[in-house]
Amino acid sequence: MIIPEIGSSFWGALRARTLEKLGGPSLSADLQDTLDKDLEAMHALVRPRVLHTIQEGRLAGRNIQTQAGIIGSSMLFRLAHGCMGGCSVAFMLATLGDGFDRLCRDRHLLSRQLVLDTAGSEFVEMVADMLLEHLESLAEDEGKQCSMRFSPGYCDWDLSGQRVIFNALDAGSIGVSLNSYDVMKPAKTVSGIALMADVVPFKIPCHFCPRQDCPWRRLSSERPIL
Ligand code: SF4
Repeated sequence: MIIPEIGSSFWGALRARTLEKLGGPSLSADLQDTLDKDLEAMHALVRPRVLHTIQEGRLAGRNIQTQAGIIGSSMLFRLAHGCMGGCSVAFMLATLGDGFDRLCRDRHLLSRQLVLDTAGSEFVEMVADMLLEHLESLAEDEGKQCSMRFSPGYCDWDLSGQRVIFNALDAGSIGVSLNSYDVMKPAKTVSGIALMADVVPFKIPCHFCPRQDCPWRRLSSERPIL
């Protein structure tokens, strides 16, 4: 387990990201004030935790096989297939913990719930990005590269992929659990994987995909490599 260091610049960046999601400076002064109070409360009460482990990944059929189970995604398989120098799978979890859920219980007005919920979503995404940066630096130390991070439910990877991640990690050690619908608790938790290899020529599967109208597309107008 790693306890991410949340410095003062983090809070400014979190405020800016949350404000942007909520409509930018046009958000009412009252709700901007709510956001500032929420950030102060999160600073005092929320202790994010992250966890990761790295396993060997083997190509099997159109999937990626790991010790923890099969990553059933033909698009992530294509990404792994392009990797050079072996391929490993980094499993990751990032959570705000139940401190954030306790804060949410005190909010009754819908507009205030929305502000807090948006700030929490941005917060946990930023923590997951910090975890990926940590994994990238581990990879770099070994002369390797890393893909972007992908969560179950992304692209053609089914939500049941959560069970592979939970097989790989001792999620309970950071207070995270998975229910029978593959939904995680605490609510503000992000799970995912990233691929590692000597060379990862493509960081995202969208390079291979013609679906320009896909809402999850992480490329703009670049032509796909089919
Ligand atoms: S464009 Fe959409 S469907 Fe295609 S690879 Fe990217 S996320 Fe998957």
